[in-house]
Amino acid sequence: LRLLVLLACVSALTACAPAIQRPGVATVLAPTPNKDARRANFVILHHTSNNTAAKALEILTSAQKGVSAHYLVGRNGTIWQLADEQDRTWHAGASWWGGQTDVNSASIGVELDNNGAEPYAEVQIRALLGLLRDIRQRLRIPAANFLGHGDVAPGRKVDPGANFPWRELALAGFGLWCDPPYPAAPAGLDNALALRALGYDTGRPDAALRAFRRHFVGTESGDPVTSEERNLMSCLLGKRTFTD
Ligand SMILES: [Zn+2]
Repeated sequence: LRLLVLLACVSALTACAPAIQRPGVATVLAPTPNKDARRANFVILHHTSNNTAAKALEILTSAQKGVSAHYLVGRNGTIWQLADEQDRTWHAGASWWGGQTDVNSASIGVELDNNGAEPYAEVQIRALLGLLRDIRQRLRIPAANFLGHGDVAPGRKVDPGANFPWRELALAGFGLWCDPPYPAAPAGLDNALALRALGYDTGRPDAALRAFRRHFVGTESGDPVTSEERNLMSCLLGKRTFTD
């Protein structure tokens, strides 16, 4: 009965809006026509960890599983669209990038049909590049904002994994890249500060370093940072522009 009374109150409030929209904060509605849908400014790449696209589709569309993405790119190059790009899908989870704490709200999620322990098929990468070109053209997403799940959730996620061809993507304009030999980093460049400036959550410095290495070096060792890697961090920071 108490619930019914509460529901009645809620609908009464709705009916006699626009004075109060929510308890605790009195607001006055003054609607504007000058608005449109929000636009994603990041693309987050994943691997499904499944052996088939059919299995991945089953999971990504199951109400019980509570996970999703906007696109799934199959091993054979088939592209499935699971949600409108204006919608917030559930792919990044607890995540952080450059101070952005709700990566799902700011991004388009792309799942790659890959079990995490196999190379990516060339036809699949070609299809992905076609999809990303289309997204970039429409949404004007800067190169630096094409990232992996492992980048935005260090210590928790590793996808799309060390097999992912980040260099090939970066040469096509998706993500940052530097090839050796790297210019010398400024003396005294702080490793953790450099990773943080790139965007990494350095709350766990070892996890951030592993994520950086997985993406930009192709290894995941826990060794101390080398001068070569410090030079690489510095080079990448120099490439970080925010124009599309
Ligand atoms: Zn993922």
